[in-house]
Amino acid sequence: MVLLKKLLNNLAFHSPAVLTEEEGKKHPKELEVLISLGVLKQDTFPQERWCPSCESESVPIQTISKERAYTLCTTNEEAARDYFDPQTLKQWQFNLPKFLELAAKELKIKDDIKNVVANDLWLIGTLQKDSRHFLVFYSRTNDINSHAAFFDAFKSPVRAFVIFTNTETPLINLNKAEAIVMPIADFVELKTKSLSWDTNTFQNHLLTAFRQVVFYPSNGDFVVLGKLLGTITPSSPEYFFAYTLWDNFNQPVSHESIFSYCKEQLGKQNDYTDTAQAFCNKMKSNVKKQIKNGVVDKVIASTKTPSGSNAYKMTNPR
Ligand SMILES: [Zn+2]
Repeated sequence: MVLLKKLLNNLAFHSPAVLTEEEGKKHPKELEVLISLGVLKQDTFPQERWCPSCESESVPIQTISKERAYTLCTTNEEAARDYFDPQTLKQWQFNLPKFLELAAKELKIKDDIKNVVANDLWLIGTLQKDSRHFLVFYSRTNDINSHAAFFDAFKSPVRAFVIFTNTETPLINLNKAEAIVMPIADFVELKTKSLSWDTNTFQNHLLTAFRQVVFYPSNGDFVVLGKLLGTITPSSPEYFFAYTLWDNFNQPVSHESIFSYCKEQLGKQNDYTDTAQAFCNKMKSNVKKQIKNGVVDKVIASTKTPSGSNAYKMTNPR
């Protein structure tokens, strides 16, 4: 895996990543596997090489045959032709689309490979597992936070993003989606004749890494199992109802507490003639109209507080 990691590392800084024959030969087995998979393809021969006579200039290569070529020093008139085997200058180019295609296939991602930010960011595809939805990306550069605006604006009902990187990179904070970042090399290993991908570890990691219910107070988006199911209009009574439940995730909030919180936020202390119970029931049924999916009853559950008052709690769907 040394070679693949090295290539991915280089890729973070130069694209395409190029491997010389000399470097490749240090890891012959890996080189063979990567070539046979099409992940490495032969690059064009360089047109020049470093002058071995004076060691201070790049000189053009004159090819005689497949195994014989020479360069001629231009600074020393006495110098003779420097013959060499051009095969030693052979180099390989990392075939990124091929690598991503392979990753998609092996990790069971439904592939739809697209370069979404020129030469920097790719969409690999979608993954569905246990009714959870994920969008998988690959970032070539390590500066993933430069893509934050792109991710927040990305139009898709799927709001759980997996971002593969070349190396360990910092987390990314998004306002309208959840994202996890992981080095792609963590899920692949070299076997005798192929690369072996750890699909189960990868998929199980996704199932535990993402929250199953996310309410975004910034814009009212309501995401369940990775999918945007609707938006609750900010500053509406329903918004404050959802907000206080989100703020107390997995804990019962009594109808009385919800009612007084909403009245306070709305600045309408005395305008409601409803009882707390009636208000809360109405809010929940209004939320059901905005989140059009049978999921609301599963994530906003009727319950009781420890002291026995009627309450709601926002929770993971069961
Ligand atoms: Zn020279």
